[in-house]
Amino acid sequence: MLEKLKLKTFDAEEIRKDFPILERRVNGKQLVYLDSAATSQKPRQVIEAEKAYYSEYNANIHRGVHKLSQEATEAYEGVREKVLRLINAREKEEIIYTRGTTEAINIVTGSVLLNSLQKGDEIVLTVMEHHSNLVPWLAMKKRGIDVKFVDINDDGTLKMEQFEVLITKKTRIVAVSCASNLLGTINDARKIAKIAHENDALALLDAAQAVPHMPVDVKAMDCDFLAFSGHKMLGPTGTGILYGKRYLLEEMEPVQFGGDMIKEVHLTHATWNDLPWKFEAGTPNIAGVIGLGVAIDYLQKIGLSNIRMHEKQLIAYALKTLKEIKGIRIFGPMDPEIRGGVISFNLADVHPHDLATVLDYEGIAVRSGHHCAMPLTERLGETATTRASFYIYNTEEEIDRLVEALEKARKVFGV
Ligand code: PMP
Repeated sequence: MLEKLKLKTFDAEEIRKDFPILERRVNGKQLVYLDSAATSQKPRQVIEAEKAYYSEYNANIHRGVHKLSQEATEAYEGVREKVLRLINAREKEEIIYTRGTTEAINIVTGSVLLNSLQKGDEIVLTVMEHHSNLVPWLAMKKRGIDVKFVDINDDGTLKMEQFEVLITKKTRIVAVSCASNLLGTINDARKIAKIAHENDALALLDAAQAVPHMPVDVKAMDCDFLAFSGHKMLGPTGTGILYGKRYLLEEMEPVQFGGDMIKEVHLTHATWNDLPWKFEAGTPNIAGVIGLGVAIDYLQKIGLSNIRMHEKQLIAYALKTLKEIKGIRIFGPMDPEIRGGVISFNLADVHPHDLATVLDYEGIAVRSGHHCAMPLTERLGETATTRASFYIYNTEEEIDRLVEALEKARKVFGV
């Protein structure tokens, strides 16, 4: 049904052929897509897998004995094994399908496990968190739970020593991103989880900017929860994963109630389904999950280490070339070893939205604004930044196009 992936070694030009959208022209120019941190493009293998589901075996899962339902259930459930292997989880019961990172984190914050937190308990986050790993925790403040923040150094790395001070016996959970969507900083998640555990706290990792870009191993990192989004890793929108250690997921109450998440329903009471379905109420994004499975196959065929290597080369090249532009301020570490394929910057006093508009005239798609990290943007002393982000299909030539367009923008704005 699905065409065999032809990739053998890493070759961005070869990879690009699988992404129909990259042939687009924007404002008369060849599209340069530098916004994969917001959402990645999709290869035709993923698009075709979704189409095949709808045109060949569209049916609801789990509840049907007919052939189409069986095929759909098999395809949908089969993806759990792929996710398990991707992040090196122990068992399929630990893999919960969600709509994305945001929903995954909300399942943890909304569950009774954390509803059992009491006044005086503490949560430790960092100032570089995306709103989806920040706002759900802030919402707990009204219950008297204190939220503390680890700060960053001038180079955009975390002040690691602050974890040792802020994480105490009062800390119940430490929730940190593996990689920042604004600074690109790759955090030492393993060490942070270790400090959390030494204090009997749980560790939740926001891996939205990690799982698509580098090998992630939940056993090695020993995190308790890991959240990531399918749409940032070549998969369809509306897909994501919550990984949780089984004993914790067993303890947790569901946060959404309805069909499929139950074992038995009576007019007086209901009992919950086994893991992982306990957390998956209602008809899910079946086509999306099937597409995500193909996206995982695609990424693994290339190899996550190769993807990391490619992005490291791109970011090294981008840092080297962009820093030569007069008036540019680049945020985040200048060392590609600790930086993912994300580069946020500002050009003199040009507003990032104006800059992004000029880049768009040149066919270059970047993002401008606070990137759902308002506290971090404020911490940097800015109101907004412009962000270019890279993925498997980007090339050094595209970074050259970005640099040329930024030089043009300097002339337009007279800076
Ligand atoms: N965390 C990080 C670090 C992110 O970059 C994003 C997406 N920009 C999210 C969480 C939220 O992901 P989603 O919108 O797919 O739920």
